[in-house]
Amino acid sequence: MPQPSARTLPVDWPQYTTPQYYAWTMARMPPGAIVADWSKHHPHNSYSPLFWYEDRPGVCKTCSAPFVFTKEAQRHCYEVLKFPIYAEAVRCAPCRAKVRETKRAQREHMAEMAARKPHPHEAFFRKRS
Ligand SMILES: [Zn+2]
Repeated sequence: MPQPSARTLPVDWPQYTTPQYYAWTMARMPPGAIVADWSKHHPHNSYSPLFWYEDRPGVCKTCSAPFVFTKEAQRHCYEVLKFPIYAEAVRCAPCRAKVRETKRAQREHMAEMAARKPHPHEAFFRKRS
């Protein structure tokens, strides 16, 4: 079996999913980052889960405005809302709010339509099986 070359992996790179690997990685946590709590993540089999959260810059796919997916927002998404750890923020906060509002309005409309009184001639238009 070929050994990983020194060019691709650090010399002191330990095996995955060991306490040594965790300690080795956590020693490289950037200052200001928040430690991730794996016990609160959505179940996954990733060899390289999120060890910490740090602000991630992005460009909104709807309005093309630059935004920052903050470390606090990431912790909320991954640990409280249980988003998959591979989920990325692709829209800025105002655009996300707009999408949520559109979906809420659609749900409300569909509930209204389901609860409405049927039209008197509805049976005429219904497809006969
Ligand atoms: Zn946007």
